[in-house]
Amino acid sequence: VMNAMAAPLIEPHLPEWVEPRFFRNAEELFELAPSADIGWFDLYQPSGMDKAIRLATKLKWLNSVYAGVDFFPLDVLRKRGVILTNGTGINAITIAEYVVMGMLTVAKGYRDVVRSQDRHEWLLDSPGKVELAGSRALILGYGAIGQKVERMLQGFDVEILKVRRSSSEGTLGPNEWRGQLGTFDWVILAVPATPETEGMIGKAEIAMMKPGSTLVNVARGTVVDQDALIEGLKAGRPGHAFLDVVTPEPLPADHPLWDVPNAHITSHLSGRAQTKMFERSVTRFLENLVRFRQGETLQPQVD
Ligand code: NDP
Repeated sequence: VMNAMAAPLIEPHLPEWVEPRFFRNAEELFELAPSADIGWFDLYQPSGMDKAIRLATKLKWLNSVYAGVDFFPLDVLRKRGVILTNGTGINAITIAEYVVMGMLTVAKGYRDVVRSQDRHEWLLDSPGKVELAGSRALILGYGAIGQKVERMLQGFDVEILKVRRSSSEGTLGPNEWRGQLGTFDWVILAVPATPETEGMIGKAEIAMMKPGSTLVNVARGTVVDQDALIEGLKAGRPGHAFLDVVTPEPLPADHPLWDVPNAHITSHLSGRAQTKMFERSVTRFLENLVRFRQGETLQPQVD
């Protein structure tokens, strides 16, 4: 069962043993849900996800084009044994490129450079004087995105420490990074939004950050205590925040965060700054269909 908007991209590639059913709105989704073995979740999904899952009593596999898992009632899916596959890695490159863009934007004061062009004004000096080389970055969340960020930043000679949930060689565990927080010029958030990561960068963490450092968030707004961040930015700790994700989204036009001069907001665009996402998602889905048919493990599964 999938949205009719996705049909032209997927339908021609489906094997003959799959009977696709397409919906155009929530009512049609609720009507089709009880007959579905497989669900496809994408940008065009109408609201009512929880209800659709409740109705989909035959559902064995739900495929999402997104990396984020906060759209889904994970406990319900787990309890019912429904496999969830997601889009982790599919737009990791473009998101990592956005992270680097954010860091360079801040380092070179690029926003002020653009503003000077708007004013037709020739600057006599650079508004940003930071070199990435030799600076220190903490990558919180060393998955598909975090690993791509590391590879790119290695090319800039940035010294990197990374954190994952299950610490392994060369990485820190979820509670081993706080003590060193004040030593980083860049703190990059690439963790999933889960109960453990909610408010991971709270008032205490913000107070620990190095003055003048930059917080980069491409994860989810809920990972950061946004009110504390606004206060921190006003006090220069951190010196900048490059925020692709905020709370709530869309950020209301009168929200105070828009006017914080050292906050750089990019409207959740990092993953969308490319055209290959759907194509890559469909390829992954078709590969998993073969595995599904043969009773093999689907990849990547959300645990
Ligand atoms: P992955 O699942 O590949 O990686 C997540 C990483 O976070 C893993 O290394 C995991 O550890 C680590 N992690 C999880 N919980 C914790 C914790 N409590 N403390 C420390 N580390 C933790 O996901 P992706 O890299 O693909 O994506 C990450 C998130 O980015 C997504 O969940 C989504 O919310 C967001 N995202 C944002 C987009 C945007 O447009 N801005 C687009 C795509 C994703 P371990 O390796 O041990 O499992």
